[in-house]
Amino acid sequence: MIEPDQADRSGRLDTSGLPLRHDLRGAHAYGAPQLDVAVRLNTNESSHPVPEPVVRAVVAAVAAVAADLNRYPDRELTALREDLAAYLSRTSGVPLEASQTWAGNGSNEVLQHLLQAFGGPGRTALGFTPSYSMHPIISTGTGTRWVDGHRPGSSSDPFDLDADAAVVQAAEVDPDVVFLCSPNNPTGTALDLDVVAAVHDAAPHALVVVDEAYAEFARPGTPSALTLLAGRPRLVVTRTMSKAFAFAGARVGYLAADPAVTDALRLVRLPYHLSTLTQVAARAALAHTDLLLRTVEDIKTQRDRVVTGARALGLSPVPSDANFVLVGGFDDAPAVWQALLDRDVLVRDVGLAGHLRVTAGTEAETTALLSALGSVVGDRRYR
Ligand code: PMP
Repeated sequence: MIEPDQADRSGRLDTSGLPLRHDLRGAHAYGAPQLDVAVRLNTNESSHPVPEPVVRAVVAAVAAVAADLNRYPDRELTALREDLAAYLSRTSGVPLEASQTWAGNGSNEVLQHLLQAFGGPGRTALGFTPSYSMHPIISTGTGTRWVDGHRPGSSSDPFDLDADAAVVQAAEVDPDVVFLCSPNNPTGTALDLDVVAAVHDAAPHALVVVDEAYAEFARPGTPSALTLLAGRPRLVVTRTMSKAFAFAGARVGYLAADPAVTDALRLVRLPYHLSTLTQVAARAALAHTDLLLRTVEDIKTQRDRVVTGARALGLSPVPSDANFVLVGGFDDAPAVWQALLDRDVLVRDVGLAGHLRVTAGTEAETTALLSALGSVVGDRRYR
């Protein structure tokens, strides 16, 4: 299991004396540090502010519904789901209906809905470590047994997951839910679709969830698992507006799947789970998709600069399809994490020995990062 990150090491909760569930005793909460630092590159947000036309559209949309906040929101999120289906259809070329989509307060909530409906006590979820740390945490939180699969790696990517390795593990565990993450957090690389299809077939009782939070940043020619949905009612693709859409603070995540999956999620979601404010703000942002996604190319350029710059410093960055880079080659990653923080640059220690994860920020932030990294790596104490 992946080690807890920096904040979690000191973040253990004292729950002695409370009638807490046994499986939560001694557990760590998710806790990426929220520090007031000049260069914040630790949670894979977009560093680009929401563009002014989108700000105006969000404000107008909120103003237009403010007097109606005495009423509960549309429980079915109908208009938002129509917009999400249109966005996914347009960008993937896969025709999708609103009934095939679902949304929540961030894709974390969508993942929780999936586990509430398809995991739970007596059920098992399988993921391939290292991957997104919330997959096991949400599994545990919903009473789902978590099984840590592994990624064997290849000569070009130390964290590669090939179809053969994934199939053996899926067949052995026979899980109820499988998590695949593509592009994978924290390693950055996208999965070949043959891995997704093979895992789907090798785990015949499982809901197969492909977490595509970073899909918009993938290198050209990386197809989405949306293209596999037709004829696979157990396959789910989750997405978010927190990354490419620069909308993390609004908390909007969503999925695409067979309409029967979204029907099942109605059994577990809280009534009116997505506020009217969130729904109209998300729709206002989606109406400006092209403008919002214009920063994606710039972020990819900065990501590739991090890869090239880290390599030039003698480090070992993993090739990335996301808006972050996992950089290896440190003797003492926690010490480098602290040394970068001392230089006003906050990155992420994901608990992988010798590695740190760095979000691709603006051009100026990337310059600051590479300069701080250069000075730390040049200091013999950290190599
Ligand atoms: N999936 C992955 C792989 C992520 O990295 C994240 C955010 N770090 C999420 C899902 C959740 O994002 P959100 O809840 O903001 O949509």
